[in-house]
Amino acid sequence: MSVSAELERALDYPLGDELPPQGGAIELAPGIKWLRMRLPFALDHINLWLLRDRIDGREGWTAVDCCIDRPEPRADWEQVFATQLDGLPILRVLVTHMHPDHVGLAHWLCERWNAPLWMSGTDYQTARYACQVVNSFGGERLADYFQSHGMSNPADLEEIRNRKSYYRNLVPALPPSYARLLHGDTVTIGGQAWRCIAGYGHAPEHMALYCEQLNVLISGDMVLPRISTNVSVYEMEPEADALTLFLDSIDRFKPLPSDVLVLPSHGKPFRGLHTRIQQLHDHHRDRLDEVMAAAREQPVCAYDILPVLFKRPLDLHQTTFALGEAVAHLHRLWYGAKLRRTRDDAGVWRFAPAP
Ligand SMILES: [Zn+2]
Repeated sequence: MSVSAELERALDYPLGDELPPQGGAIELAPGIKWLRMRLPFALDHINLWLLRDRIDGREGWTAVDCCIDRPEPRADWEQVFATQLDGLPILRVLVTHMHPDHVGLAHWLCERWNAPLWMSGTDYQTARYACQVVNSFGGERLADYFQSHGMSNPADLEEIRNRKSYYRNLVPALPPSYARLLHGDTVTIGGQAWRCIAGYGHAPEHMALYCEQLNVLISGDMVLPRISTNVSVYEMEPEADALTLFLDSIDRFKPLPSDVLVLPSHGKPFRGLHTRIQQLHDHHRDRLDEVMAAAREQPVCAYDILPVLFKRPLDLHQTTFALGEAVAHLHRLWYGAKLRRTRDDAGVWRFAPAP
């Protein structure tokens, strides 16, 4: 059994292997529907949620997350509108964070239903910016940044320099206004109180939602059952200690009940939140130990430790994500005073054990 299969066995999947059909839904509890839409990436699906709602006397639904803007998810949504809403409108679109699979179709859903968008201020502003710039997740600055972390193949760097509109291609627009979610806020959905729990390290200001009455946590990408959340450092905030932010953030879920039903953005709804939080801490501790071991052999740059962190071959697209994760691991050790860093003559950051 693979390590991940063994870890997964420690979690409880109340629905077993059941998945929502394409364009359909599974009702998890009265007024909570699980949708699953296709993604054309290695991560091939996203979970979205419909919560029965009532706003200003109008009956309808709050949609949580949206999928990317592509014809397939638009078609899936059309089917959902026709078959899952009980003839009622979508009254509000709530987005956990700014990544394209979560916010891509928000503009379309909000316009179509004349519904407001609710999300964190940081993620809204970042998404607005990212869908306006030409070179999101590409361009000269990103290429320079990767070079400073050891990427040296000229063809790879050239491809990154020329990569255009990665974000805008999946998120063509954002609604022109929004309602801001803050950590600790309570959002009333269908008469029930959902508390916002901010999380850092994966997105600028991710919002998870917890409902005590229903004992349900919409964890977004902060706690996933099978894969570990992407935690990366990129050129916009090159000195970030993203992994520490992430690990501190998942500890914010520890006070929740151990039998809370977790609704993650990828994978299946599960119980075993505390087990999963511990698994994620263990996972990153093991990776950090391996990075330290490599750095004791000789000073390393982020590019050097890709094979340490990722035991499979990576294409360029995956390498760009993996490099961000490698920097996040090095930075946690550097901020924790276990590594020190120096910049070599070629301008590459190298990390060695702190004296
Ligand atoms: Zn995400």
